[in-house]
Amino acid sequence: MIPVGEALEIVLAHTPVLPSDEVDLPESVGRVLAEDVRSDVEMPPFDRAAMDGYAVRAEDAAKAPVTLRVVAQARAGQTVERAVGEGEAIQIMTGAPVPSGATAVQPVEKTRALPDGRVEILTPVERGAHIAPRGSEGGIGDPVLVKGDTIDPAAVAVLAAVGKARVRVGRRPTVSVLVTGDELVDVWDTPGRGRIRNSNGPAVLAQARWAGADARSLGIVPDQAERIAEAVRSGFESDVLVVSGGVSEGAYDLVEDVLARFDVGLLFTKVAIKPGAPLVFGRRGDRLVFGLPGNPVSAQVTFDVFVRAALLRMQGARVVSRPTVEVELLEAVRNKSGRQAHLPARIRFEGGRFVARPLASMGSADIVAHARANALVILDAARVRAEAGERAPALLLGNFLERDGSDREGSGRSGSA
Ligand code: AMP
Ligand code: MG
Repeated sequence: MIPVGEALEIVLAHTPVLPSDEVDLPESVGRVLAEDVRSDVEMPPFDRAAMDGYAVRAEDAAKAPVTLRVVAQARAGQTVERAVGEGEAIQIMTGAPVPSGATAVQPVEKTRALPDGRVEILTPVERGAHIAPRGSEGGIGDPVLVKGDTIDPAAVAVLAAVGKARVRVGRRPTVSVLVTGDELVDVWDTPGRGRIRNSNGPAVLAQARWAGADARSLGIVPDQAERIAEAVRSGFESDVLVVSGGVSEGAYDLVEDVLARFDVGLLFTKVAIKPGAPLVFGRRGDRLVFGLPGNPVSAQVTFDVFVRAALLRMQGARVVSRPTVEVELLEAVRNKSGRQAHLPARIRFEGGRFVARPLASMGSADIVAHARANALVILDAARVRAEAGERAPALLLGNFLERDGSDREGSGRSGSA
């Protein structure tokens, strides 16, 4: 059994960065930038009015209230050649180039238009007010985004502003998801005696897609070496093969044996993680294989920590793990496993710190508790118990940004583990 950090290092050391692709800008969101991007324009490219109002000489407005002659109008997209002289103002719209001579823009709310083509400036305005000077947000050649950045909508705005109609991004890894288990039936079936629906397959596909992969399902395969081998062969056409179940010590846990037939170099088979522990990672040339524990929460957590990191690294991402924050526990939690525990919790920011309410969970099969969590409180192997009021690290889950973390949120069970 190896520690979580060591296992993650092994995974990343064996994960190749895939070649890049080029996509149209609107398709780039969620992808990983594969090039450094520099600005090809000054931002803004001219002294830009930041408000609707009047371009004036600040010294004229200093004597406010004062009446100035309106000598022109400056609209966005047009350059007014007329300069602002003493005692003059030019009516200006947000986004318009500020005419020469003007040293400030007085917002329309602080003016009163007079019927005779003059304007009364009601209050003084500081030199430079409401003018964004040319180049103040960036110059030509300035780096604006770097290789390895994940492209979010804010980055899309930057790419658009610097003229990147086509964007170089990391290729999406292809992923095959193979689910093993004699007890499993498909989502559309009603489970008979002793059987359950396959929840890992859809969950793992969803996780792979959420991590930017191009994922397909190889369906449910019974616990028979020949059938597993057949599916594994097809799975190795993908960059990454993810197998669910069949990696623990049971008589029908056949995945390791089958992988051996394919000359897979196994790099580890057990990690000191809870939920989890049995977790297989291997490599066949440039193809990776992960054997996830069948227990549904174990499968999701180990995917999140290891497989997701590999999929992001393949796309060239710099940040491949979710952020960890320090939380104050609202209730005590325990970890008797001797492994690094990840306990489902609902966290929120309150009173100047993150607080975590641990969620009641029946353990590594309790997908409902896991689905209510927005973070996992981490107790390392040596930390057997943490009391209410103590602090602990918590790994933010992928849903964190969409949840407010309040106790009212969601429905169903709550309370401490
Ligand atoms: P295994 O790792 O194959 O020994 O499975 C461990 C536990 O997870 C057993 O209770 C299985 O029934 C359950 N399990 C395995 N695969 C799945 C799956 N695809 N969906 C839901 N539960 C599963
Ligand atoms: Mg099984």
